[in-house]
Amino acid sequence: MKSGAAVLEVRKLEKSYGRVKALAGVDLTVREGEFVALLGPNGAGKSTLLQLLTGLFSPDNGSIMVLGNDLRRSAIRALAGIGVVFQQPTLDLELSVRANLLFHADLHGLNRRAARERIDASLKRFGLADRARDRARTLSGGNRRRVELVRALLHRPHILLMDEATVGLDPASRRDILNDILRLCREENIGVLWTTHLVDEVEVADRVVVLNRGKVLFDGLMADLLLREKTDDMGAAFIQITGGDAAPNGQPMSAAAAD
Ligand code: ADP
Ligand code: MG
Repeated sequence: MKSGAAVLEVRKLEKSYGRVKALAGVDLTVREGEFVALLGPNGAGKSTLLQLLTGLFSPDNGSIMVLGNDLRRSAIRALAGIGVVFQQPTLDLELSVRANLLFHADLHGLNRRAARERIDASLKRFGLADRARDRARTLSGGNRRRVELVRALLHRPHILLMDEATVGLDPASRRDILNDILRLCREENIGVLWTTHLVDEVEVADRVVVLNRGKVLFDGLMADLLLREKTDDMGAAFIQITGGDAAPNGQPMSAAAAD
């Protein structure tokens, strides 16, 4: 396990929507350079967690610290440390790739020259150097996600939150994006919280956190989860630990879990 500084510390986080307890006391830590997979079936509370982490909603209880800054008390400083790619795509498809990115840079108050340099370097890094002038609509699903990734990194966050970033992509694109993020995590020492309902995406993670019905059921090495569940099959372990809320291919089994 990594022993670097904690970039994200979540303690006893609770959030309800009416009578639905979406998060029921979640503890979670991500350290610098650490790739943490948050694995949970649909309805587990993953998106709710990310919405709280990005300050879109306030938790009912509990605390969120980003690089030692309390999100409730020092929101601006805390949020400056966070980059996020949400589950729903958010590019303006009619704008060029560069325009999408410059708009975001403006929001963060980056000067135009620095922004252009960062954008060009980052697009190059993800193999998109020749697409800057193209309309976002002309990009493949995987490349659109990469542009969102470039955007999430523009202000140089210390932790990157990715909410089901590979949904809707074909297996090869999924693997490529996952590898891109992993490389970024290793080379830039950025902490990554990667949420997914797909067990095959957690193999590369330094640590796996299993979330189900708003509760953390496991937090540790995948090897230890397999030992505990007495199986060498991650899919089987996931089904056992979630009590059947997850199917082996990651599809929800109960109607209530559909999103
Ligand atoms: P996940 O991202 O893991 O699929 P969510 O965080 O989207 O899970 O949802 C967790 C639970 O909270 C689910 O039971 C879901 O139906 C419920 N929920 C999520 N968002 C809302 C909302 N805006 N209003 C009411 N219930 C919600
Ligand atoms: Mg979700």
